[in-house]
Amino acid sequence: MSDVAVEGLPAQARVAGAMQGFSREIGALSAFRLESCIHCGICADACHYYVATEDPQYTPIWKVEPFKQAYKREASAFAPLFRLFGFKRAVSAEQLEHWQHLLFDSCNLCGRCSLICPMGIDVAALIEQARHAMFDAGLAPKELYDKAAHQRATGQPEASAEPYRDQLIAIGVRFDVRIPLDESDVDVMLCIPRTDIDHYPGAVAALARVMSHLGVSCTFRSDGLIAENYGYYAGGREWQRDISLRLIDTAIACKAKTLIVPECGHAYAALRWEAADLYGKPLPFKVLAVTEFLAQELGAGRLRLGNATTGPTTFQDPCQLSRTGGVTEAPRALMKAMGVDLQEMRNNGSFSYCCGGGGGVVDIERAAPLRYRTMEIKLREIDDTGANTFLTTCSDCRRTFDDAQRHFSWDKSPESLLELVAKNLIDAGAGR
Ligand code: SF4
Ligand code: SF4
Repeated sequence: MSDVAVEGLPAQARVAGAMQGFSREIGALSAFRLESCIHCGICADACHYYVATEDPQYTPIWKVEPFKQAYKREASAFAPLFRLFGFKRAVSAEQLEHWQHLLFDSCNLCGRCSLICPMGIDVAALIEQARHAMFDAGLAPKELYDKAAHQRATGQPEASAEPYRDQLIAIGVRFDVRIPLDESDVDVMLCIPRTDIDHYPGAVAALARVMSHLGVSCTFRSDGLIAENYGYYAGGREWQRDISLRLIDTAIACKAKTLIVPECGHAYAALRWEAADLYGKPLPFKVLAVTEFLAQELGAGRLRLGNATTGPTTFQDPCQLSRTGGVTEAPRALMKAMGVDLQEMRNNGSFSYCCGGGGGVVDIERAAPLRYRTMEIKLREIDDTGANTFLTTCSDCRRTFDDAQRHFSWDKSPESLLELVAKNLIDAGAGR
């Protein structure tokens, strides 16, 4: 493994850093999780990495094996016996470097394994904790580490040719929509994935158009704009907190009562479920996925939609929105309101397979060959629906599938549900 983030850290310091990090995170719940595995192997059948390769190293619970080993040796009730009789060997630096592949390159933190475990073990949460320990040991993949460091320092994961503020203004001009920018005293603050700015500006325009149509008092803020959290991907807990704090502080400063997370699955998980924990108290505003917000508006009769002519259509549920976030019915309510002929994939909703790019994997270059191999499961499921339109609500899913389109010469490209909503808005008074 070559991508060691903290160069020159001695091997023993790496191991000690990882183990200290893991021990710090081990609370009663995690200890219980580690102790209660009955080695049934059922989680393997839930993980697309194992299903695609049948390689036992991709069994989800095996991905935390060094940490389980260290826990049993150092902190479990029988730790002295484990050490005395050598039942568990000390973890080596080489072992940890190999585990970088298992914890980062071959895990999307998608949570499908957690859903299926008969003992209720949240394997994905253990993997996330193990990533924290790897980060502490200087073993986060370089791409994720560098983006996290840049985002923590500047608010954006990479340098851009033009400031994002100027790019937002240009998007407003190009799509002929007013972009509310850097306003205060608003009800809603909007954030956006930088993936949308870079690749899918139509989604940014769609968000602005829908909010304007609904008459929502809202703003984008150039001092707290980017939804992605590379600290979360890299496993840097403090960096994740600092990146979240930028958005939290900005939302408080502009007096927003709601922070709307756009089409970005992991940003939703980071802000909805983890941000308050890192902030140390409840957030003084609501966090809603844009589809959740729009489904609420639909239910309240404020959002009216015309029929979309998409033909047979399938839908990719982003893991962090559906499985972890429970935002499964909201996109379906919006599609139903537009008369979309939805053809569900065999595994859909909270049981959907990950696109393969989640958890930062799409950013790790060396992970691409394995990612393509695992994606074939998903592409087959999409093809099997017979749909010719393919919608999703996550820009990283879009990026991952667009990359697959190029790699496999696949004939489909995912479209944004939000953009479809923006195209089919009906004035509140129309048709009365
Ligand atoms: S499904 Fe649960 S109990 Fe079975 S091996 Fe996986 S983590 Fe252990
Ligand atoms: S979280 Fe997803 S990718 Fe990671 S081990 Fe579990 S099923 Fe596999």
